[in-house]
Amino acid sequence: MNSLNLQTDWQYDPAPQSTDHINLKESYDLFINGAFVPAKNNNHRNTINPSNEKIIAKVADAGPDDVNLAVSAARKAYETSWSKISHSERGKYLFRIARIIQERSRELAVIESMDGGKPIRESRDIDVPLAAAHFFYYAGWADKLKYAFPGRETQPLGVAGQIIPWNFPLLMAAWKIAPALATGNTIVLKPAETTPLTAMLLAEIIREADLPDGVVNIITGDGSTGSSLVEHPDVDKIAFTGSTAVGKEIMKKLAGKNKPYTLELGGKAANIIFADAAIDQAIEGIVNSIFFNQGHVCCAGSRLFVEESISDEIIFKLRERMETLIVGDPLDKNTDIGAINSKEQLKRIQEYVKIGQDEGGELYQSKCKLPNTGYWHAPTLFCNVSQSHRIVQEEIFGPVLAIQTFRTVDEVIEKANNTPYGLSGGVWTDKGAKIFKVTQNIRAGVIWANTFNKFDPSAPFGGYKESGMGREGGIQGLLPYLKLNPC
Ligand code: NAD
Repeated sequence: MNSLNLQTDWQYDPAPQSTDHINLKESYDLFINGAFVPAKNNNHRNTINPSNEKIIAKVADAGPDDVNLAVSAARKAYETSWSKISHSERGKYLFRIARIIQERSRELAVIESMDGGKPIRESRDIDVPLAAAHFFYYAGWADKLKYAFPGRETQPLGVAGQIIPWNFPLLMAAWKIAPALATGNTIVLKPAETTPLTAMLLAEIIREADLPDGVVNIITGDGSTGSSLVEHPDVDKIAFTGSTAVGKEIMKKLAGKNKPYTLELGGKAANIIFADAAIDQAIEGIVNSIFFNQGHVCCAGSRLFVEESISDEIIFKLRERMETLIVGDPLDKNTDIGAINSKEQLKRIQEYVKIGQDEGGELYQSKCKLPNTGYWHAPTLFCNVSQSHRIVQEEIFGPVLAIQTFRTVDEVIEKANNTPYGLSGGVWTDKGAKIFKVTQNIRAGVIWANTFNKFDPSAPFGGYKESGMGREGGIQGLLPYLKLNPC
Protein backbone atom coordinates (compact mmCIF):
# COMPACT_ATOMS: atom_id res chain seq x y z
CA MET A 1 0.00 0.00 0.00
CA ASN A 2 1.34 3.45 -0.91
CA SER A 3 1.74 5.70 2.09
CA LEU A 4 0.22 9.16 2.11
CA ASN A 5 2.66 11.97 1.28
CA LEU A 6 1.46 14.82 3.46
CA GLN A 7 3.41 17.43 1.50
CA THR A 8 1.72 16.63 -1.81
CA ASP A 9 -1.39 14.47 -1.27
CA TRP A 10 -3.19 16.44 1.40
CA GLN A 11 -3.10 20.15 0.74
CA TYR A 12 -5.39 22.82 2.07
CA ASP A 13 -6.59 25.58 -0.22
CA PRO A 14 -5.27 28.98 0.83
CA ALA A 15 -7.51 30.78 3.33
CA PRO A 16 -6.07 34.29 3.41
CA GLN A 17 -7.22 36.73 6.05
CA SER A 18 -8.54 39.90 4.43
CA THR A 19 -6.53 43.05 5.08
CA ASP A 20 -9.22 45.39 3.68
CA HIS A 21 -10.11 46.75 7.10
CA ILE A 22 -6.52 47.69 7.93
CA ASN A 23 -5.63 51.31 7.82
CA LEU A 24 -1.88 51.65 8.25
CA LYS A 25 -0.13 54.99 8.18
CA GLU A 26 3.08 55.55 6.25
CA SER A 27 4.74 56.96 9.31
CA TYR A 28 4.20 56.77 13.08
CA ASP A 29 5.22 59.41 15.64
CA LEU A 30 5.76 59.09 19.36
CA PHE A 31 2.76 59.14 21.70
CA ILE A 32 3.53 61.71 24.38
CA ASN A 33 1.12 63.62 26.61
CA GLY A 34 -1.94 62.39 24.71
CA ALA A 35 -0.69 63.48 21.26
CA PHE A 36 1.35 62.01 18.42
CA VAL A 37 4.55 64.04 18.12
CA PRO A 38 7.63 63.61 15.91
CA ALA A 39 10.94 62.65 17.52
CA LYS A 40 13.06 65.73 18.32
CA ASN A 41 15.88 64.52 16.07
CA ASN A 42 13.33 63.54 13.39
CA ASN A 43 14.93 60.07 13.17
CA HIS A 44 12.87 57.14 11.91
CA ARG A 45 13.42 53.44 11.33
CA ASN A 46 11.49 51.15 9.02
CA THR A 47 9.37 48.34 10.36
CA ILE A 48 9.42 45.34 8.04
CA ASN A 49 7.00 42.51 7.33
CA PRO A 50 9.25 39.47 8.01
CA SER A 51 7.19 37.23 5.72
CA ASN A 52 7.99 39.26 2.58
CA GLU A 53 10.71 41.74 3.68
CA LYS A 54 8.54 44.68 2.57
CA ILE A 55 8.57 47.92 4.53
CA ILE A 56 5.24 48.40 6.30
CA ALA A 57 5.79 51.85 7.82
CA LYS A 58 8.33 54.29 9.19
CA VAL A 59 8.41 54.61 12.96
CA ALA A 60 9.96 57.43 15.02
CA ASP A 61 13.15 56.71 16.93
CA ALA A 62 13.07 58.40 20.33
CA GLY A 63 16.28 59.98 21.61
CA PRO A 64 17.11 61.11 25.17
CA ASP A 65 15.19 64.43 24.70
CA ASP A 66 12.04 62.52 23.77
CA VAL A 67 12.49 60.20 26.75
CA ASN A 68 12.73 63.33 28.94
CA LEU A 69 9.56 64.74 27.45
CA ALA A 70 7.65 61.47 27.94
CA VAL A 71 8.82 61.10 31.54
CA SER A 72 7.84 64.73 32.36
CA ALA A 73 4.41 64.16 30.79
CA ALA A 74 3.97 61.00 32.88
CA ARG A 75 5.11 62.83 36.05
CA LYS A 76 2.70 65.71 35.46
CA ALA A 77 -0.18 63.32 34.75
CA TYR A 78 0.63 61.38 37.92
CA GLU A 79 0.59 64.49 40.07
CA THR A 80 -2.31 66.36 38.54
CA SER A 81 -4.77 63.68 37.46
CA TRP A 82 -4.10 59.97 37.79
CA SER A 83 -3.21 59.89 41.50
CA LYS A 84 -6.18 62.14 42.27
CA ILE A 85 -9.11 60.35 40.60
CA SER A 86 -11.08 57.71 42.47
CA HIS A 87 -10.04 54.08 42.15
CA SER A 88 -13.37 53.12 40.57
CA GLU A 89 -12.91 55.86 37.98
CA ARG A 90 -9.49 54.38 37.12
CA GLY A 91 -11.18 51.02 36.69
CA LYS A 92 -13.67 52.48 34.20
CA TYR A 93 -10.82 53.63 31.92
CA LEU A 94 -9.34 50.14 31.96
CA PHE A 95 -12.70 48.56 31.11
CA ARG A 96 -12.99 51.02 28.25
CA ILE A 97 -9.55 50.10 26.87
CA ALA A 98 -10.45 46.39 27.12
CA ARG A 99 -13.69 46.89 25.21
CA ILE A 100 -12.05 48.94 22.44
CA ILE A 101 -9.37 46.24 22.06
CA GLN A 102 -12.21 43.77 21.54
CA GLU A 103 -13.93 46.07 19.04
CA ARG A 104 -10.70 46.53 17.06
CA SER A 105 -9.53 42.95 17.53
CA ARG A 106 -9.43 41.98 13.84
CA GLU A 107 -7.36 45.02 12.95
CA LEU A 108 -4.97 44.38 15.86
CA ALA A 109 -4.59 40.71 14.98
CA VAL A 110 -3.80 41.36 11.31
CA ILE A 111 -1.27 44.10 12.09
CA GLU A 112 0.37 41.92 14.76
CA SER A 113 0.84 39.13 12.21
CA MET A 114 2.10 41.50 9.51
CA ASP A 115 4.61 43.21 11.77
CA GLY A 116 5.82 40.19 13.76
CA GLY A 117 5.31 37.18 11.45
CA LYS A 118 3.12 35.12 13.78
CA PRO A 119 0.22 33.08 12.32
CA ILE A 120 -3.08 34.96 12.24
CA ARG A 121 -4.68 32.01 14.07
CA GLU A 122 -2.47 32.79 17.06
CA SER A 123 -2.72 36.59 17.03
CA ARG A 124 -6.51 36.34 16.52
CA ASP A 125 -7.20 33.60 19.08
CA ILE A 126 -4.47 34.12 21.66
CA ASP A 127 -2.57 37.44 21.64
CA VAL A 128 -5.46 39.85 21.16
CA PRO A 129 -8.13 38.14 23.35
CA LEU A 130 -5.58 37.68 26.14
CA ALA A 131 -4.56 41.34 25.89
CA ALA A 132 -8.21 42.39 26.32
CA ALA A 133 -8.60 39.86 29.15
CA HIS A 134 -5.67 41.43 30.98
CA PHE A 135 -7.27 44.87 30.89
CA PHE A 136 -10.63 43.41 32.01
CA TYR A 137 -8.95 41.52 34.84
CA TYR A 138 -6.96 44.47 36.23
CA ALA A 139 -9.92 46.83 35.69
CA GLY A 140 -11.66 44.66 38.27
CA TRP A 141 -8.85 45.14 40.79
CA ALA A 142 -8.63 48.95 40.47
CA ASP A 143 -11.26 49.65 43.15
CA LYS A 144 -10.57 46.53 45.23
CA LEU A 145 -6.95 47.06 46.25
CA LYS A 146 -7.87 47.26 49.93
CA TYR A 147 -9.37 43.75 49.65
CA ALA A 148 -6.29 42.48 47.77
CA PHE A 149 -4.04 43.58 50.65
CA PRO A 150 -6.22 43.69 53.76
CA GLY A 151 -4.97 45.82 56.64
CA ARG A 152 -2.63 47.76 54.36
CA GLU A 153 -2.97 51.05 52.60
CA THR A 154 -1.80 50.90 49.00
CA GLN A 155 0.25 53.65 47.40
CA PRO A 156 1.30 53.81 43.74
CA LEU A 157 5.02 54.18 42.98
CA GLY A 158 4.67 57.07 40.51
CA VAL A 159 6.10 56.88 36.97
CA ALA A 160 6.75 53.38 35.63
CA GLY A 161 9.25 52.86 32.78
CA GLN A 162 8.30 49.72 30.87
CA ILE A 163 10.31 47.94 28.17
CA ILE A 164 8.96 45.01 26.14
CA PRO A 165 10.21 42.45 23.57
CA TRP A 166 9.01 41.53 20.09
CA ASN A 167 7.55 38.07 20.56
CA PHE A 168 4.11 39.06 21.96
CA PRO A 169 4.08 42.82 21.29
CA LEU A 170 0.48 43.72 22.16
CA LEU A 171 0.13 41.11 24.88
CA MET A 172 3.35 42.19 26.63
CA ALA A 173 2.16 45.82 26.46
CA ALA A 174 -1.11 44.74 28.12
CA TRP A 175 0.77 42.72 30.80
CA LYS A 176 2.73 45.87 31.63
CA ILE A 177 0.17 48.67 31.24
CA ALA A 178 -2.94 47.12 32.85
CA PRO A 179 -1.57 46.44 36.38
CA ALA A 180 0.40 49.72 36.44
CA LEU A 181 -2.72 51.76 35.63
CA ALA A 182 -4.97 49.79 37.98
CA THR A 183 -2.62 50.58 40.86
CA GLY A 184 -2.47 54.31 40.04
CA ASN A 185 0.88 54.68 38.27
CA THR A 186 1.54 56.55 35.05
CA ILE A 187 3.60 55.02 32.27
CA VAL A 188 6.30 55.43 29.66
CA LEU A 189 6.33 52.26 27.54
CA LYS A 190 8.99 51.32 24.98
CA PRO A 191 8.03 48.58 22.47
CA ALA A 192 10.66 46.49 20.66
CA GLU A 193 12.18 48.00 17.54
CA THR A 194 10.98 45.23 15.17
CA THR A 195 7.34 45.21 16.32
CA PRO A 196 6.14 48.71 17.20
CA LEU A 197 2.86 48.83 15.27
CA THR A 198 0.28 47.31 17.63
CA ALA A 199 1.69 49.49 20.42
CA MET A 200 0.96 52.52 18.23
CA LEU A 201 -2.56 51.21 17.67
CA LEU A 202 -2.86 50.79 21.42
CA ALA A 203 -1.88 54.48 21.72
CA GLU A 204 -4.84 55.30 19.44
CA ILE A 205 -7.07 53.10 21.60
CA ILE A 206 -5.88 54.87 24.75
CA ARG A 207 -6.79 58.18 23.15
CA GLU A 208 -10.18 56.81 22.12
CA ALA A 209 -10.73 55.67 25.71
CA ASP A 210 -10.16 59.32 26.73
CA LEU A 211 -7.45 58.65 29.29
CA PRO A 212 -6.11 61.89 30.76
CA ASP A 213 -3.14 63.20 28.74
CA GLY A 214 0.24 61.82 29.78
CA VAL A 215 -1.07 58.86 31.81
CA VAL A 216 0.29 56.48 29.13
CA ASN A 217 3.15 57.55 26.86
CA ILE A 218 4.54 55.22 24.18
CA ILE A 219 7.97 55.91 22.73
CA THR A 220 9.48 53.78 20.00
CA GLY A 221 13.18 53.15 19.51
CA ASP A 222 15.91 50.60 20.08
CA GLY A 223 18.04 49.55 23.05
CA SER A 224 19.51 53.05 23.45
CA THR A 225 15.99 54.47 24.00
CA GLY A 226 15.36 51.70 26.55
CA SER A 227 18.65 52.49 28.23
CA SER A 228 17.78 56.22 28.55
CA LEU A 229 14.49 55.24 30.13
CA VAL A 230 16.19 52.91 32.62
CA GLU A 231 18.69 55.63 33.59
CA HIS A 232 16.19 58.47 33.82
CA PRO A 233 16.28 59.88 37.36
CA ASP A 234 12.57 60.73 37.43
CA VAL A 235 11.36 57.19 36.68
CA ASP A 236 10.23 55.47 39.89
CA LYS A 237 10.12 51.87 38.70
CA ILE A 238 11.40 49.76 35.80
CA ALA A 239 9.50 46.78 34.42
CA PHE A 240 11.53 44.93 31.79
CA THR A 241 10.74 41.90 29.65
CA GLY A 242 13.49 40.68 27.35
CA SER A 243 16.74 38.80 27.24
CA THR A 244 18.72 37.74 30.30
CA ALA A 245 21.79 39.60 28.97
CA VAL A 246 19.97 42.95 28.89
CA GLY A 247 18.23 42.14 32.19
CA LYS A 248 21.67 41.77 33.81
CA GLU A 249 22.78 45.12 32.36
CA ILE A 250 19.69 46.77 33.82
CA MET A 251 20.37 45.21 37.23
CA LYS A 252 23.89 46.63 37.20
CA LYS A 253 22.64 50.08 36.23
CA LEU A 254 20.02 50.14 38.96
CA ALA A 255 22.17 48.65 41.72
CA GLY A 256 22.16 50.96 44.74
CA LYS A 257 19.68 53.38 43.15
CA ASN A 258 16.65 52.57 45.31
CA LYS A 259 14.57 52.17 42.15
CA PRO A 260 12.46 48.98 42.22
CA TYR A 261 12.52 46.79 39.13
CA THR A 262 10.98 43.60 37.81
CA LEU A 263 12.67 41.43 35.20
CA GLU A 264 10.92 38.86 33.00
CA LEU A 265 13.78 37.18 31.14
CA GLY A 266 14.69 34.13 29.08
CA GLY A 267 13.97 30.45 29.57
CA LYS A 268 14.93 26.90 28.59
CA ALA A 269 11.98 24.89 29.85
CA ALA A 270 11.96 21.14 30.38
CA ASN A 271 8.93 19.35 28.96
CA ILE A 272 8.83 15.87 30.56
CA ILE A 273 6.95 12.90 29.09
CA PHE A 274 6.51 9.81 31.27
CA ALA A 275 5.72 6.42 29.76
CA ASP A 276 2.25 6.41 31.35
CA ALA A 277 1.22 9.68 29.62
CA ALA A 278 -1.54 9.87 27.00
CA ILE A 279 0.92 9.71 24.10
CA ASP A 280 -1.10 11.36 21.32
CA GLN A 281 -2.06 14.21 23.61
CA ALA A 282 1.57 14.59 24.65
CA ILE A 283 2.63 14.82 20.98
CA GLU A 284 0.24 17.76 20.53
CA GLY A 285 1.63 19.22 23.74
CA ILE A 286 5.20 18.97 22.44
CA VAL A 287 4.23 20.64 19.16
CA ASN A 288 2.49 23.44 21.06
CA SER A 289 5.35 23.81 23.51
CA ILE A 290 8.08 24.40 20.94
CA PHE A 291 6.47 25.41 17.64
CA PHE A 292 3.87 27.88 18.97
CA ASN A 293 4.84 31.40 17.75
CA GLN A 294 7.83 29.89 15.83
CA GLY A 295 9.38 29.03 19.20
CA HIS A 296 9.77 32.75 19.98
CA VAL A 297 8.37 32.06 23.43
CA CYS A 298 10.24 32.67 26.70
CA CYS A 299 8.46 29.71 28.32
CA ALA A 300 8.83 27.39 25.26
CA GLY A 301 9.45 23.74 26.13
CA SER A 302 12.73 23.72 24.22
CA ARG A 303 14.20 20.75 26.15
CA LEU A 304 12.17 17.57 25.77
CA PHE A 305 12.77 14.73 28.25
CA VAL A 306 11.19 11.41 27.26
CA GLU A 307 11.13 8.28 29.43
CA GLU A 308 13.52 5.89 27.71
CA SER A 309 10.99 3.09 27.10
CA ILE A 310 8.78 5.28 24.90
CA SER A 311 11.40 7.46 23.22
CA ASP A 312 11.31 5.63 19.85
CA GLU A 313 7.54 5.88 19.70
CA ILE A 314 7.52 9.58 20.69
CA ILE A 315 10.23 10.54 18.20
CA PHE A 316 8.50 8.60 15.40
CA LYS A 317 5.12 10.18 16.08
CA LEU A 318 6.60 13.64 16.58
CA ARG A 319 8.42 13.49 13.25
CA GLU A 320 5.20 12.41 11.51
CA ARG A 321 3.29 15.25 13.16
CA MET A 322 5.99 17.76 12.20
CA GLU A 323 5.44 16.86 8.54
CA THR A 324 1.82 18.00 8.79
CA LEU A 325 2.66 21.43 10.19
CA ILE A 326 1.96 24.16 7.64
CA VAL A 327 4.78 26.69 7.46
CA GLY A 328 4.07 29.84 5.47
CA ASP A 329 2.06 33.02 5.07
CA PRO A 330 1.21 34.32 8.57
CA LEU A 331 -2.03 35.77 7.20
CA ASP A 332 -3.27 32.38 5.96
CA LYS A 333 -5.73 30.93 8.48
CA ASN A 334 -4.31 27.42 7.91
CA THR A 335 -0.77 28.37 8.82
CA ASP A 336 0.74 26.70 11.89
CA ILE A 337 4.20 28.26 11.78
CA GLY A 338 4.76 31.76 10.45
CA ALA A 339 7.86 33.83 9.70
CA ILE A 340 10.87 34.29 11.96
CA ASN A 341 10.61 37.77 13.42
CA SER A 342 13.74 39.29 11.89
CA LYS A 343 16.80 38.57 9.77
CA GLU A 344 18.98 38.79 12.91
CA GLN A 345 16.86 36.24 14.77
CA LEU A 346 16.92 33.87 11.79
CA LYS A 347 20.71 34.12 11.70
CA ARG A 348 20.89 33.37 15.42
CA ILE A 349 18.69 30.26 15.03
CA GLN A 350 20.74 29.05 12.05
CA GLU A 351 23.95 29.52 14.03
CA TYR A 352 22.56 27.39 16.86
CA VAL A 353 21.51 24.65 14.44
CA LYS A 354 25.07 24.59 13.12
CA ILE A 355 26.44 24.48 16.67
CA GLY A 356 24.10 21.55 17.42
CA GLN A 357 25.38 19.63 14.38
CA ASP A 358 29.03 20.46 15.09
CA GLU A 359 28.62 19.16 18.64
CA GLY A 360 27.33 15.84 17.31
CA GLY A 361 23.55 16.27 17.64
CA GLU A 362 21.39 14.27 15.22
CA LEU A 363 19.31 16.77 13.24
CA TYR A 364 15.84 16.24 11.87
CA GLN A 365 13.87 18.92 10.03
CA SER A 366 10.44 18.73 8.49
CA LYS A 367 10.50 18.60 4.70
CA CYS A 368 8.19 21.59 4.33
CA LYS A 369 8.87 23.96 1.44
CA LEU A 370 9.92 27.36 2.71
CA PRO A 371 8.91 30.54 0.81
CA ASN A 372 11.69 32.20 -1.22
CA THR A 373 11.45 35.67 0.30
CA GLY A 374 11.12 36.49 3.97
CA TYR A 375 12.66 34.87 7.05
CA TRP A 376 11.74 31.22 7.58
CA HIS A 377 12.92 28.23 9.53
CA ALA A 378 11.66 24.65 9.30
CA PRO A 379 10.52 22.90 12.50
CA THR A 380 13.67 21.23 13.80
CA LEU A 381 14.62 18.65 16.38
CA PHE A 382 17.87 17.29 17.71
CA CYS A 383 18.40 13.81 19.18
CA ASN A 384 21.63 12.41 20.63
CA VAL A 385 22.34 15.45 22.73
CA SER A 386 23.43 15.67 26.36
CA GLN A 387 23.30 18.16 29.20
CA SER A 388 26.58 19.78 28.17
CA HIS A 389 25.50 20.63 24.60
CA ARG A 390 25.05 24.35 24.00
CA ILE A 391 21.70 23.79 22.29
CA VAL A 392 20.52 22.14 25.53
CA GLN A 393 21.81 24.92 27.80
CA GLU A 394 21.25 28.15 25.84
CA GLU A 395 18.02 29.85 24.78
CA ILE A 396 17.62 29.65 20.99
CA PHE A 397 14.22 31.36 20.74
CA GLY A 398 13.23 29.52 17.58
CA PRO A 399 11.50 26.29 16.43
CA VAL A 400 14.33 24.02 17.59
CA LEU A 401 13.81 21.19 20.08
CA ALA A 402 16.53 19.21 21.90
CA ILE A 403 15.46 15.70 22.95
CA GLN A 404 16.97 13.63 25.78
CA THR A 405 15.82 10.50 27.60
CA PHE A 406 15.60 9.53 31.27
CA ARG A 407 14.86 6.45 33.38
CA THR A 408 13.76 7.70 36.81
CA VAL A 409 11.82 10.59 38.28
CA ASP A 410 14.84 11.76 40.30
CA GLU A 411 17.07 11.69 37.23
CA VAL A 412 14.71 13.84 35.17
CA ILE A 413 14.26 16.34 38.01
CA GLU A 414 18.01 16.74 38.26
CA LYS A 415 18.38 17.15 34.50
CA ALA A 416 15.46 19.60 34.29
CA ASN A 417 17.02 21.79 36.99
CA ASN A 418 20.45 21.71 35.37
CA THR A 419 20.13 25.06 33.60
CA PRO A 420 20.67 28.69 34.58
CA TYR A 421 17.00 29.38 33.77
CA GLY A 422 13.85 28.74 35.78
CA LEU A 423 10.83 30.11 33.96
CA SER A 424 8.52 27.23 33.09
CA GLY A 425 8.15 23.50 32.56
CA GLY A 426 5.73 20.74 31.63
CA VAL A 427 4.97 17.24 32.88
CA TRP A 428 2.89 14.58 31.12
CA THR A 429 1.76 11.53 33.12
CA ASP A 430 -1.31 9.63 34.21
CA LYS A 431 -0.19 9.69 37.86
CA GLY A 432 -1.01 12.59 40.16
CA ALA A 433 1.80 11.61 42.53
CA LYS A 434 4.39 12.05 39.78
CA ILE A 435 2.90 15.44 38.87
CA PHE A 436 3.25 16.57 42.50
CA LYS A 437 6.77 15.26 42.86
CA VAL A 438 8.00 16.86 39.63
CA THR A 439 6.23 20.20 40.09
CA GLN A 440 7.44 20.54 43.68
CA ASN A 441 11.05 19.82 42.77
CA ILE A 442 11.58 21.75 39.58
CA ARG A 443 12.55 25.34 40.22
CA ALA A 444 10.41 27.22 37.69
CA GLY A 445 7.76 29.91 37.93
CA VAL A 446 5.07 27.93 36.12
CA ILE A 447 4.78 24.20 35.41
CA TRP A 448 1.95 22.84 33.34
CA ALA A 449 0.62 19.31 33.87
CA ASN A 450 -0.72 17.43 30.83
CA THR A 451 -0.87 20.69 28.88
CA PHE A 452 1.53 23.48 27.90
CA ASN A 453 1.57 27.22 27.16
CA LYS A 454 -1.76 27.99 28.81
CA PHE A 455 -2.15 31.57 30.06
CA ASP A 456 -4.73 33.35 32.13
CA PRO A 457 -4.62 36.91 33.52
CA SER A 458 -5.45 35.64 37.00
CA ALA A 459 -2.42 33.32 37.09
CA PRO A 460 0.95 34.82 38.09
CA PHE A 461 3.84 34.34 35.66
CA GLY A 462 7.56 34.90 36.22
CA GLY A 463 10.92 33.31 36.76
CA TYR A 464 13.52 32.00 39.17
CA LYS A 465 17.29 32.10 38.70
CA GLU A 466 18.34 33.82 35.44
CA SER A 467 14.74 33.91 34.20
CA GLY A 468 14.09 37.00 36.28
CA MET A 469 12.36 38.31 39.35
CA GLY A 470 8.88 39.56 40.16
CA ARG A 471 5.54 38.28 38.88
CA GLU A 472 3.11 39.51 36.25
CA GLY A 473 -0.53 38.47 36.27
CA GLY A 474 -2.86 37.69 39.14
CA ILE A 475 -2.99 39.47 42.46
CA GLN A 476 0.82 39.09 42.60
CA GLY A 477 1.09 41.27 39.48
CA LEU A 478 -0.25 44.26 41.46
CA LEU A 479 2.56 44.16 44.02
CA PRO A 480 5.48 45.41 41.86
CA TYR A 481 3.54 48.66 41.28
CA LEU A 482 2.61 49.41 44.90
CA LYS A 483 4.00 50.45 48.24
CA LEU A 484 2.10 48.78 51.06
CA ASN A 485 1.80 51.00 54.13
CA PRO A 486 0.23 50.23 57.51
CA CYS A 487 -3.36 51.57 57.72
P1 NAD B 1 16.13 42.12 24.19
O1 NAD B 1 16.60 42.04 25.59
O2 NAD B 1 17.13 42.25 23.12
O3 NAD B 1 15.16 43.38 24.02
C1 NAD B 1 14.01 43.55 24.81
C2 NAD B 1 13.66 45.02 24.86
O4 NAD B 1 14.71 45.71 25.53
C3 NAD B 1 13.54 45.69 23.49
O5 NAD B 1 12.52 46.66 23.56
C4 NAD B 1 14.89 46.35 23.31
O6 NAD B 1 14.87 47.48 22.46
C5 NAD B 1 15.20 46.76 24.74
N1 NAD B 1 16.63 46.91 25.04
C6 NAD B 1 17.69 46.36 24.39
N2 NAD B 1 18.84 46.73 25.00
C7 NAD B 1 18.49 47.51 26.05
C8 NAD B 1 19.22 48.17 27.08
N3 NAD B 1 20.55 48.11 27.14
N4 NAD B 1 18.54 48.86 28.03
C9 NAD B 1 17.19 48.91 28.01
N5 NAD B 1 16.44 48.32 27.05
C10 NAD B 1 17.09 47.62 26.09
O7 NAD B 1 15.18 40.87 23.99
P2 NAD B 1 14.37 40.47 22.69
O8 NAD B 1 15.30 39.82 21.75
O9 NAD B 1 13.53 41.61 22.20
O10 NAD B 1 13.32 39.42 23.29
C11 NAD B 1 13.59 38.11 23.42
C12 NAD B 1 13.92 37.79 24.86
O11 NAD B 1 12.84 38.16 25.70
C13 NAD B 1 14.10 36.31 25.07
O12 NAD B 1 15.23 36.07 25.88
C14 NAD B 1 12.82 35.90 25.81
O13 NAD B 1 12.96 34.74 26.58
C15 NAD B 1 12.53 37.11 26.61
N6 NAD B 1 11.12 37.15 27.03
C16 NAD B 1 10.80 36.90 28.33
C17 NAD B 1 9.45 36.89 28.74
C18 NAD B 1 9.08 36.60 30.16
O14 NAD B 1 7.94 36.86 30.53
N7 NAD B 1 9.98 36.07 30.97
C19 NAD B 1 8.45 37.15 27.81
C20 NAD B 1 8.81 37.41 26.49
C21 NAD B 1 10.16 37.40 26.10
